[in-house]
Amino acid sequence: MTKKSIANVDVANKTVFVRVDFNVPLDDAGNITDDRRIQMALPTINSVLDRGGKIILASHLGRPKDAPDPKYTMKPTAVRLAELLKKPVEFATDTVGPDAKAKVAGLKDGGILVLENLRFQPGEKNGDDAFARELAAFADIYVNDAFGTCHRTDASMYAVPKAMGAKPKVCGFLVEKEIKYLSSAIANPQRPFVAIIGGKKVSDKIMVIKNLLGICDKVLIGGAMAYTFSLAKGEKVGNSLVEQDKVDLAKELLAFGGDKLVLPADTHCSDKFAADGNKKIVKSGEVPDGFEGLDIGPETAKLYADIVLGAKTVVWNGPMGVSEMPPFDAGTKAVAEAVAKSGSVSIIGGGDSAAAIQHLGFADKVSHVSTGGGASLEMLEGKKFAAVDVLDNA
Ligand code: AMP
Repeated sequence: MTKKSIANVDVANKTVFVRVDFNVPLDDAGNITDDRRIQMALPTINSVLDRGGKIILASHLGRPKDAPDPKYTMKPTAVRLAELLKKPVEFATDTVGPDAKAKVAGLKDGGILVLENLRFQPGEKNGDDAFARELAAFADIYVNDAFGTCHRTDASMYAVPKAMGAKPKVCGFLVEKEIKYLSSAIANPQRPFVAIIGGKKVSDKIMVIKNLLGICDKVLIGGAMAYTFSLAKGEKVGNSLVEQDKVDLAKELLAFGGDKLVLPADTHCSDKFAADGNKKIVKSGEVPDGFEGLDIGPETAKLYADIVLGAKTVVWNGPMGVSEMPPFDAGTKAVAEAVAKSGSVSIIGGGDSAAAIQHLGFADKVSHVSTGGGASLEMLEGKKFAAVDVLDNA
């Protein structure tokens, strides 16, 4: 079911509540280290402003414990947004308290207000209706543009749009775009359709791998999770990171996937988790005692790159090795390069693979880099989001 877009709502002179995902990474001094999530919300924000609406932006940031915590204030995001828009942005020092109420009441057409962190209120994580009604009362229109939070039913994601009653509740441009790419990749892929799944834990991605095995032509496995599969085949993994309790699940996936599930042929291992250890390239399943696998080996990198180069649709989530520690970024780099060159419809999941593709300079050569780690995984698992379901149909 297609959901109504903010593009199709008259916003002139209206107050528009936009649930954004400004959950940006901060350094120890509280500086934003990557503002991509703010940048990605600009199309929705500008569209409302250009059409004479006023905007209230609300988000969570980090994991405060249901109470104000200066470490997680939204203030730096309001400052950054003002720089990006080259316009003043107001900031409320509370979420539904006196400062927020006064600043909402004082908003002028074309004005922008960022509320303090939603998670400073216990009602946000509890999905509390009374808290939701207070937020809903601020606005004439509700917009969900927080893709990174769409797999959750926190108050601002679900109870607030419900509390809007007959008032419009619609998708923002970012949510629209994310859903378009992620759902059409699954529903209607151009073939060959190749998925690359890496990262640390097989447990996080079991359901994704299972769902993709039912849809894709090949599922390539990399990262530490490959060693749990190796173990399931009774092979030697040395000190590699494995999940002993997931070996049976890995066995099931191996049986279910057959030759669609492709495991590394070789591995780059080291006698310590550091760039300067003694390093070796060995056949998969032959990691010597005292060594741990930290990346796919060159033979695998070539094999995976060749498969990717022949693909028409690629979905990628999770690095092929410890990509933040060269030289163990080589496998991830080779795969990123192949994705960029393949000319396929390519969708990169959030989190580490999104960071890797950006860091390697390939972000503009892929079709879509998702802003949502958990949310993009759940879409690839084939799950439906209650927070999107609750919005008006187109
Ligand atoms: P994930 O959050 O599941 O996507 O996993 C990303 C993390 O997995 C990154 O921090 C990588 O450093 C880590 N990782 C990938 N491969 C390995 C490996 N072979 N050994 C240890 N950590 C790994």
